[in-house]
Amino acid sequence: MEKIIIIGAGPAGLTAAYELSKLKYKVTVLEEENQVGGLSKTVSYHGNRMDLGGHRFFSKNKKVNRWWQSFLPLENKENHPENTDNVMLIQNRVSRIYYNKHFFDYPISLKMKTLRAMGWKKIIKIGCSYLKSVVHKLPENSLENFYINRFGKELYQMFFEDYTEKLWGKHPRELSADWGEQRVKGLSVLAVLKNFIIPSKEKETSLIDSFWYPKYGPGQLWEKVEASILEMGGNIIKGAKVSDIFQEHNQIKSVTYKDCKGEMQKIKGDIFLSSMPLKDLVYGMNQVPKGIQKIAHGLVYRDFVTIGICLSKWQLSNQSLIPDCWMYIQDKGVKLGRIQVFYNWSPYLIKDAKHKLWIGLEYFCDEGDAFWNLTEDECLKFAMKELHKIGIVSKNSRVLDYHREKVKKAYPSYVGTYNQLPRLIHYINRRENLYCIGRNGQHRYNNMDHSMMTAFEAVDNLTGKKKDKTSIWSVNTEREYLEESHER
Ligand SMILES: Cc1cc2nc3c(=O)[nH]c(=O)nc-3n(C[C@H](O)[C@H](O)[C@H](O)COP(=O)(O)OP(=O)(O)OC[C@H]3O[C@@H](n4cnc5c(N)ncnc54)[C@H](O)[C@@H]3O)c2cc1C
Repeated sequence: MEKIIIIGAGPAGLTAAYELSKLKYKVTVLEEENQVGGLSKTVSYHGNRMDLGGHRFFSKNKKVNRWWQSFLPLENKENHPENTDNVMLIQNRVSRIYYNKHFFDYPISLKMKTLRAMGWKKIIKIGCSYLKSVVHKLPENSLENFYINRFGKELYQMFFEDYTEKLWGKHPRELSADWGEQRVKGLSVLAVLKNFIIPSKEKETSLIDSFWYPKYGPGQLWEKVEASILEMGGNIIKGAKVSDIFQEHNQIKSVTYKDCKGEMQKIKGDIFLSSMPLKDLVYGMNQVPKGIQKIAHGLVYRDFVTIGICLSKWQLSNQSLIPDCWMYIQDKGVKLGRIQVFYNWSPYLIKDAKHKLWIGLEYFCDEGDAFWNLTEDECLKFAMKELHKIGIVSKNSRVLDYHREKVKKAYPSYVGTYNQLPRLIHYINRRENLYCIGRNGQHRYNNMDHSMMTAFEAVDNLTGKKKDKTSIWSVNTEREYLEESHER
């Protein structure tokens, strides 16, 4: 049977490895890090667990849902989380926007509290600007216009403008409307009104209000998948960073990687699946025409730093007063983008949930910039100052513990040479035994389920069930989307 090499042990690589192992293929997964899960891993630090962001398990794809549940069944009366470690919690999505010293529901709702916090003057302004956007549509040639067309200028400025700029490091007028298409599919003021009047089962993508979450964070699921692959005889080599990809006559022949001892190793294979960033993949390939290299070189990413902070004192004193899973910090005066309240994802992420609060502060930045290069202590100081500035902690809040994670290429960006991707994809697809899967593997803003679905499609292709690689690249491109998202 053919030997399959899979680059990356994130959701895409592991899904492919699992599916192929089940079909008795001989798989070897090469993973740069010493842990599986990729962006969806869970970091454990002094007994507290950190999600890189917060990973909701939500999919409209039945196969994905069945797959997740086969590893971690949903909690119910028999397998209540107290009685078992292997369970998927069902959590309410509570997420608010912190703006102008008030918390607003996100997605925007029409509760009395929201209207009061806005004030009547603002509501009238919002109404007028929304009506203007209904009668006068702007050309959808930027993310700014995309938002204004759906929400009106006032709401856009309140809820999207600054946060989007923090996230991408660029003003929404410089960003492609594609990003909005992917992340706010179908959401608009009309959708909010509809949701208010008829709470429906088939809600718009950004309005879904519950999700699944593994008891010990997303990494728990991916570690279970890893164990199953190993059990079936698959090989997962960690600490293996792939650098070179050798091709001959439109076929990939081998890859080289640096192993955990720093030594270079070469591995041959018959079929290759790659979930490493498309940019790095092309950079590592031999015989790539200059034009293609240029497109790969021009792909842009946004990086991400998250710092977990364990506090003894919380200004809102009682944890139950903070219902949010996460909060968007739409406040120009601070760099902070989002706060995760890990307790509300799963109390089991925290060592001493009764007495301690464990939160994750998220900062969007570029690898190598001033924020990225702060020391861990400097980063903590910066973060605590900002938390105080927006009134979330008191000045003398005592930090009990903290841990920072730097995440490279967290967000594939739709700028740079993004528009020329079809040419690059055409080139890649002609390497007959190479399949690009996943988020950075396809340079698409894919969530876990989309990343898994690219793996399902690749497996169907290489096992002969499907004969056209376009189905792999078509995941998460349809107008009729497949998944609720909004990690933003
Ligand atoms: C802040 C944030 C919040 C998110 N929230 C959600 C959410 O709520 N729900 C959801 O479904 N999704 C969410 N996502 C998206 C989710 O993390 C990704 O869709 C998913 O992890 C992508 O899986 P992947 O396998 O394609 O890529 P990755 O997770 O990036 O995995 C790729 C793997 O390849 C490895 N690799 C890279 N280069 C090499 C190399 N040269 N050699 C060897 N190995 C290499 C990496 O180390 C990594 O382990 C979020 C993402 C972020 C950044």
